[in-house]
Amino acid sequence: MARRYLVAGNWKMHGLASDLGEVAAIASGAERRPDVDVALCLPATLIERAARALPAFAIGGQDVHAEDKGAHTGDIGAAMLSDAGASLTIVGHSERRADHGESDEGVQAKAAAALASGLDVILCVGESLEVRKSGQAIPEVERQLLASLPEFEGNPSRLSVAYEPIWAIGTGLVPSLEDIAAMHGALRQQLVDRFGAAGGDMRILYGGSVKASNAGEILAIDDVDGALVGGASLKSADFLPIVEAAPQS
Ligand code: PEP
Repeated sequence: MARRYLVAGNWKMHGLASDLGEVAAIASGAERRPDVDVALCLPATLIERAARALPAFAIGGQDVHAEDKGAHTGDIGAAMLSDAGASLTIVGHSERRADHGESDEGVQAKAAAALASGLDVILCVGESLEVRKSGQAIPEVERQLLASLPEFEGNPSRLSVAYEPIWAIGTGLVPSLEDIAAMHGALRQQLVDRFGAAGGDMRILYGGSVKASNAGEILAIDDVDGALVGGASLKSADFLPIVEAAPQS
């Protein structure tokens, strides 16, 4: 099965109703590349309005609780995200791991809950600068991935991994193309070891300071099947050139 590129934006804690025009512009511009899957993971407050306005475009959440409902003030369950119109969610973003003390086991439970309720998942992993400098980035991210991956037997395109070196997020720093290739190759092997042929069909996205000027060379690397984009996903003028940079499939 050929893997389709997936370019997903992560709006983090940005976006008001007045920004829904950018979502519409991105959805419309993405139609120029029907061979690329494009999605925007919006703040929870915008999901329902964006999904209602753009029913054919993939809108996602940025986190999900491992339980469907209960006494968890401020949290959102997978069924709630689906009910609001989301078709996917990010889990395990390094900002949530850091700000909310999320463990690999907790991320695994969130991913499992999301997949079970029909949401596609982008599961984030990535090393700190300290680990990168110590030369242990690959074994550390492999460990993190194996500890965070849920059991899964569905369509492999529903579970994507995003390799996001923490030190590259929002900093303008990007690993060398060789380092990205080495990490993605190692993660591919882990997915194949864990899921067999299905692991070969799961997408591995790169995230961390992707922008129009570097997207083409990053997306051309073997086993880079798309991008998770933060800052450059907020404006259609920045995001759509990243979508366009995906090699033609
Ligand atoms: C992210 O937050 O997932 C991200 C990759 O951010 P940025 O593109 O701004 O580095």
